Amino acid sequence: MRNVSTLDELRSARLSLSGTVGLVPTMGFLHEGHLSLIRRAKEECDHVIVSIFVNPTQFGPKEDLSKYPRDIERDLNLIEPLGTDLVWMPSAEIMYPKGYQTWVEVEAITSPLEGTMRPGHFRGVTTVVAKLFNGVQPHKAYFGQKDAQQAAVIRQMTRDLNFPIEIVVCPIVREADGLAMSSRNVYLDPEQRKAAIVLFRSLSTAKETYEKGERDAEKIRSRMKEVLASEPLAEVQYVSCADYDTLEELTEINSKALLSMAVFIGKTRLIDNFVLD
Ligand code: AMP
Repeated sequence: MRNVSTLDELRSARLSLSGTVGLVPTMGFLHEGHLSLIRRAKEECDHVIVSIFVNPTQFGPKEDLSKYPRDIERDLNLIEPLGTDLVWMPSAEIMYPKGYQTWVEVEAITSPLEGTMRPGHFRGVTTVVAKLFNGVQPHKAYFGQKDAQQAAVIRQMTRDLNFPIEIVVCPIVREADGLAMSSRNVYLDPEQRKAAIVLFRSLSTAKETYEKGERDAEKIRSRMKEVLASEPLAEVQYVSCADYDTLEELTEINSKALLSMAVFIGKTRLIDNFVLD
């Protein structure tokens, strides 16, 4: 496994790989969720490239950029046994050199949900992913359903900008009690960690309600809110029952839908979602 940081190193390493290439973009501090993406890429492609870059432009001024967890040595030890060919770890100066002024913006689909709560977030995500795509030139790129809106936004950008890349979205990997794996889970103290399963409980309750025949989206949102309200440590930012493709809030569920939420447990912001198909 080779590790590179500069664009020249990346280009020459990339040129030496023949056959299909799968890219797994990450911000590091890897867990089983990330590793599931790498395994899937390994199954489907001749070569796998993992990028590790904590992208400053997708963090808001009050967000956790400086304390975002990092452990490159541990990450490399986790990636190596999976048969990854190349790890690209650019610095912020390589991605955004002095005088940088070009941005990629996707419109409507970035407005609701995470886009409302985190202004500018998706502009940072789409810009960096476009740069990762240009640098790596993969045939396929792997993203997690955990960040459902991000996956939808990347699919839209890929179509709109004609990137010849197939976007593969992989299922959410969860802890045994249902908490969706996230690099940010390390911020939770033991009491908060227990409280954090309320997101999964809330989504599960909503899904059961749907499976019993409820199609009124407002009632489904209310069920999710009720369960979240039962946990004193949970502070809800949003709860959504939206159309799976457009992410517009639904009145009635009569097509594929996305149940999603953002909830603070203490200072840690957690997101999770279920798809109703
Ligand atoms: P991040 O390092 O948080 O930017 O995540 C990198 C990629 O891993 C993104 O495509 C995420 O959606 C995906 N990912 C993060 N957590 C999970 C999870 N629990 N299950 C599946 N994919 C995940």
